[in-house]
Amino acid sequence: MIDLHTHTNISDGTDTPVQLINKALASGIKVLALTDHDSIAGWDEAELHLRPGMDLVLGAEISCQTEDGISVHMLGLLFDPSHQELQDVLAQTRENRHSRMSKIIGRMNSAGIEISMEEVLLQLSEGATLGRPHLADAMIAKGLANSREEIFEKWLHNNSPYYVAHYSPTPEVAIALIKAAGGVSVIAHPMASLRGRTVSVESFSSYVEAGLDGIEVFHRDHTADQKNLLKGIAADLNVLRTGSSDYHGTGKLNELGENTTERDQWEALESKANSRRIVRKN
Ligand code: AMP
Ligand code: ZN
Ligand code: FE
Ligand code: FE
Repeated sequence: MIDLHTHTNISDGTDTPVQLINKALASGIKVLALTDHDSIAGWDEAELHLRPGMDLVLGAEISCQTEDGISVHMLGLLFDPSHQELQDVLAQTRENRHSRMSKIIGRMNSAGIEISMEEVLLQLSEGATLGRPHLADAMIAKGLANSREEIFEKWLHNNSPYYVAHYSPTPEVAIALIKAAGGVSVIAHPMASLRGRTVSVESFSSYVEAGLDGIEVFHRDHTADQKNLLKGIAADLNVLRTGSSDYHGTGKLNELGENTTERDQWEALESKANSRRIVRKN
């Protein structure tokens, strides 16, 4: 099984990187990508605890926004972590997520929902990328609901009056930066419409022109029709197709390996990185 998109408590997942590695090994995953939101801070711990039997692919899920304000997630895999410009963009996004959270909290407070930044930060592990799921966890801790899903449905979805965007590069800029850092880019769950507006079918060619290497086709937030459509788009545009769990520990229902990437697609994708960066222990 090849699972190319997972999260830990370095962003909004609930497992530590070592817990993720152990669970993935126990689940029989052969290739695992670690892709925390806008951060590579979990790479060292994951690499340290890797054992023989599984390849580790280090990456990140980069938050992007199109010029017309649509949120896009771009998976960057196998890039050189010392590429300064890419790291600067990730740092800027992480930092901006804090002022953005204050604004969301301000809007909620004005509407009579009592929650504070201090309570939200209690839900965040040190140095982790702050996100709406941490606000959801703080609201759960206050007894306002029982699950992140419920909170997102009621208060935190992208069309809610409390929604505020944060600084993000455009998808084209993120793709170019990942490429400049020698990695490969895969657009994550591009048709997950439950999360808000999604990009048009036409925009995929602009991403491919910018250097996009793959499309995440097999993901629980896509319907069967959307998977078929995306498979066709990937074939037409001559890019690879991937599948993944988008595992978040207990933060989401997604189970490791519930969607996977075909071996030939993975090998072709990996060959597009400018250096062999898969981590493997013997
Ligand atoms: P943010 O990065 O702060 O914009 O928050 C987006 C993150 O919230 C996504 O990456 C998901 O992990 C999570 N998320 C989005 N929708 C839901 C939902 N319905 N239930 C649980 N988590 C969600
Ligand atoms: Zn997430
Ligand atoms: Fe995502
Ligand atoms: Fe994700």
